[in-house]
Amino acid sequence: MARILWLADSLRSAGLTVRETSGWETRERPASTGGFAPEGVLLHHTAAYATSSDPHPSLDTVIQGRGGSDPLPGPLCHVLIDRNSVCWVVAAGRANHAGSAVASGPMPAGDGNEMYVGIEVEYAATNHVPTQYATSGQKSTAIVAAARIVSRLGHGYRYVRAHKETSTTGKIDPYNWDMTDIRESVRQCLERTGW
Ligand SMILES: [Zn+2]
Repeated sequence: MARILWLADSLRSAGLTVRETSGWETRERPASTGGFAPEGVLLHHTAAYATSSDPHPSLDTVIQGRGGSDPLPGPLCHVLIDRNSVCWVVAAGRANHAGSAVASGPMPAGDGNEMYVGIEVEYAATNHVPTQYATSGQKSTAIVAAARIVSRLGHGYRYVRAHKETSTTGKIDPYNWDMTDIRESVRQCLERTGW
């Protein structure tokens, strides 16, 4: 099964602030759960309330998974963008972030965890009063990260999708992101950098 071992270096070379979680290079779902052959990037929000002094409340969860009434084993993404726009590299292999996916843009329907690299952005969205939005720094970090990753996958801006565009279960993430605008920003980033 594929691992994207270039992930941390690629994000660093894109000028982003990167922290590598211990063991990310071999962190993945077992092969018995499916493959990993990513062709696109999928954007998410964590729905956790984060602040500049507590910037990544979901970090342990995205590494280890969650219990409770709706348990899901980790890893739950490949990259977590914290409230201070730091990119935490979580996993190089298959992660539990997408579930089954409907077709979206150039991406076909299928096993989203096989087809997508998952980026989680740490903000609460509607899971907090008042609603918490992504910061402009988080958004621009996600755009640069998505552009760098999708170019490494050999594709262009149209292969950057949102969970709310692929979900079969009514997901709304990333909340309040206009994906036409996000993809246009990815396109401009790819054009500007030549990635
Ligand atoms: Zn999601």
